[in-house]
Amino acid sequence: MEKAKITEIFTSIQGEGLYIGQVQTFVRFYGCNIKCGFCDERRKTGFKEYSAQELMSVIIKESNRVISFTGGEPLLYAGFLKEILPELKKKGFIVYLETNGTLKNKLLKIIDFLDIISMDIKLPSSTGCRAYWKAHADFLKEAVKKKAFVKSVITNKTTLSDIRKAVSIIKRIDKAIFFILQPVTINNKIQKITKAQKFLDIANSTLDNVRFIPQAHKILDIR
Ligand code: SF4
Repeated sequence: MEKAKITEIFTSIQGEGLYIGQVQTFVRFYGCNIKCGFCDERRKTGFKEYSAQELMSVIIKESNRVISFTGGEPLLYAGFLKEILPELKKKGFIVYLETNGTLKNKLLKIIDFLDIISMDIKLPSSTGCRAYWKAHADFLKEAVKKKAFVKSVITNKTTLSDIRKAVSIIKRIDKAIFFILQPVTINNKIQKITKAQKFLDIANSTLDNVRFIPQAHKILDIR
């Protein structure tokens, strides 16, 4: 049986996106297929290996209803998740997936067991990485079959054309999908984004549900 590398398991409030403030148990997987410049997770080296059964018993001990699989990139562990998710669903848990939105084929392996999908559209001008436009479009087409929303981190390097591109991907699928612009946090400090209003104007001119939401757990200084 497959084991998964997990960096931490803890219960707190969701600090990002549409479900901000909801109490969730977070299972943070180790490793990612992208290297965003602003990411703290990719610099972490410690993890513990769990079998599906071991993870299940930790989740049950936390006795919380919503389980958030995050990372890193949890879909790197789609095979492992496929072992644990049917049992979680049988026991009545709500399953939340936080993903970078690039691995559609892995999503398809487990989508039937997911309730909520928080997916990123990675803006190359924010991340310093290559673009993943097609991968994001393909991913979102599948993700919307569940409760899904899109989040993009914005920085002072983010370009208007990247915002336009993300907006057009969402619009082509459904302009009612929530699009969350999240100002980057650096060294635990939420950055002031000079062009934030301009980004919001662009997104609002096309999409129905645009929000500007900073990371609440950083404001509250909690985990
Ligand atoms: S996709 Fe997420 S986990 Fe991966 S490097 Fe970027 S911010 Fe970090």
